[in-house]
Amino acid sequence: MATDYDAPRKTDDELSEDSIEELKSRRVDKSASSVDVDETEQAEGFELPGADLSGEELTVSVVPKQADEFTCSVCFLVQHRSRLASETDGRQVCVDCA
Ligand SMILES: [Zn+2]
Repeated sequence: MATDYDAPRKTDDELSEDSIEELKSRRVDKSASSVDVDETEQAEGFELPGADLSGEELTVSVVPKQADEFTCSVCFLVQHRSRLASETDGRQVCVDCA
């Protein structure tokens, strides 16, 4: 009978411990598997911020000047060639600043 009283207690403790352990192991499993999944993505993601030139996706606002674009020497905005108003001694001026 004494074991009957102990048994449920122990079972309760064990159950809660088990569930915690289970949760832990599940979380570990999840994070472990997600790490496995992310590893390739992260490997690529880590390279992008480090190398600014290859991180075109992350630096959309700082995209290098395109072949059909110029940097205005007055407002320093990169604009399309169609907006080039004048070019003197390599100084290119957009229509806004001309
Ligand atoms: Zn300008």
